[in-house]
Amino acid sequence: MERRVFGVETEFGITHRGVAVDGAPRPGLAPDETARYLFRPVVEWGRSSNVFIPNGSRLYLDVGSHPEYATAECSDIEELIAADRAGERIMDDLARRAEEAMAADGIDGTIYLLKNNVDSQGNSYGSHENYLIPRTTHFRRLSTVLLPFLVTRQILCGAGHLVTEQEEAGRELGPHYAFSQRADHMWEGVSSATTRARPIINTRDEPHADASAHRRLHVIVGDSNMSETTQLLRYGTTDLVLRMIESGVPLGDYELQNPIRAIREISHDLTGTATVLTRDGEEMTAVDIQAGLLDRARRFVSEEGAHHGHLEQVLQLWERTLQAVASGDHSNIDTEIDWAIKKRLIDEVAARGSLALDDPRLGQIDMAYHDIRPERGLHHVLVRKGRAATLLGQEQIDQAVLLPPATTRAALRGHFLSTARAFGAGHSVDWVHHKLVDRPLEAIMLKDPFETAAERVETLLDTLGDRRAVVRELSAEERLDQPVPPALSERYLVTGGTVPPPPVI
Ligand code: ATP
Ligand code: MG
Ligand code: MG
Repeated sequence: MERRVFGVETEFGITHRGVAVDGAPRPGLAPDETARYLFRPVVEWGRSSNVFIPNGSRLYLDVGSHPEYATAECSDIEELIAADRAGERIMDDLARRAEEAMAADGIDGTIYLLKNNVDSQGNSYGSHENYLIPRTTHFRRLSTVLLPFLVTRQILCGAGHLVTEQEEAGRELGPHYAFSQRADHMWEGVSSATTRARPIINTRDEPHADASAHRRLHVIVGDSNMSETTQLLRYGTTDLVLRMIESGVPLGDYELQNPIRAIREISHDLTGTATVLTRDGEEMTAVDIQAGLLDRARRFVSEEGAHHGHLEQVLQLWERTLQAVASGDHSNIDTEIDWAIKKRLIDEVAARGSLALDDPRLGQIDMAYHDIRPERGLHHVLVRKGRAATLLGQEQIDQAVLLPPATTRAALRGHFLSTARAFGAGHSVDWVHHKLVDRPLEAIMLKDPFETAAERVETLLDTLGDRRAVVRELSAEERLDQPVPPALSERYLVTGGTVPPPPVI
């Protein structure tokens, strides 16, 4: 694919803690009640707990109690990371408002939203990546190359996890630090189920695009990342491996005998020396497989040229991370790679207090690293201390809260729904469809995710009134001034004119 569409869905862990009395924390509300408070402004705004918002993304509260944010379609990795970070802002803003609403109801306490993948009961929730791929991509290459890549990718972009007790293949592993939170919760390689069997690659065929030309590859194995540089490596390497698969260059055959056993063994061996068996009976380490693919990727990029501005950074960080794992010296990546940033902090605190790895205080750090509240979350603290690198400026994230990515149909979705709201017109949208309730027969389908200027959309919106004369786009300051969460603020203001009556059908 010359250009690709990306999207990432994040499910957050949610906890409410009551105010401590005499040092003893009181239990707070149950997660589902807390999540209902969290989504109250969303439901007031959109009459549903499953809405698309002006920046083109989807906010969603499922029956479980893991609020979800799915970024709009992005066509550039930096745009994707900004959209994802905007999701953290949006959720944090909702959490602050929920605390106020609770206080008004006489419920004191604090909401913690964690961008991680396991809660203290051992339940897992996901970070799902979506990649647009051509329908012609051979399925076989997905299992011979992409699956082994994803099984071993955790050594690059796992979020790190302190494991206090673990039995692996009948053997007791003592307390230890693992690469990934998600690895132990994967049960299948490639399949179409999501919740029950949790496959690494989900083949459920919902392309949200022209199904004869494209697939949406749905990868549910990734850990949620706090670090922007780790995200760059995660999406950058995956995109590159997909490009190599799509272009048909020889990549070798790394097909694994048992991907699910392999993903666990790799996660629990921080030395990177655990070997896994390929279908041909060869023993390879995660570093071997990744180094083989990195080598191919370097060759591929030198022949084809760079297709985005961060490619050299991706290749260098890829190489440095493999070196760090192979040598056991992580000092070269411990500001850029989530598992290493967090491990350094845990190691320091453990050494300072002579704490054993299963000390609950270290478990707390493991969780607090993922707290999305900027004043409190340990990743945020490390960024402020210069111990965790960033990629984006704050203004990019601020903008991504208010506006959709400009390079995909998300721009049209955001424009459509904000305009319909400005005119007070009933409407509905999803990834593909745009409908005004009063004109159901004129609903518009945008199957091309790269479409950014559809005359059809403008024509339908023209039925609302004379937009050129009466609609004004509000500035960021004006939007922040509105009493609602910025992400739900009105983008356009109708300043006059008359709204025409609905058509008679
Ligand atoms: P659910 O999570 O309810 O099971 P789902 O997997 O369809 O459903 P959504 O939460 O709706 O997921 O999120 C879809 C994600 O796919 C979004 O991040 C979106 O940006 C992305 N996306 C939409 N269309 C495409 C496309 N054609 N190619 C790749 N990604 C896409
Ligand atoms: Mg989803
Ligand atoms: Mg999904």
